[in-house]
Amino acid sequence: MTTLCPHCGWPDDQPFLVVSRHATGLGLTVWVRCACGSVQVREVGPAGARIVSRGRPALGPPSGQNCPG
Ligand SMILES: [Zn+2]
Repeated sequence: MTTLCPHCGWPDDQPFLVVSRHATGLGLTVWVRCACGSVQVREVGPAGARIVSRGRPALGPPSGQNCPG
């Protein structure tokens, strides 16, 4: 898995900070916080790791960046 964080470009295969791990019936659910502050939820199973969801960075986007005008 060589995907990158879309917010800051951090490699997803190098977790910045593991917040918590939970064993599930399918394997392991791991919460990881990225360098930019976004939180990922990963499922780790026999087939490898898979990112289930990814949050936004802790800080909001710079003002005006998404301004349509
Ligand atoms: Zn990031």
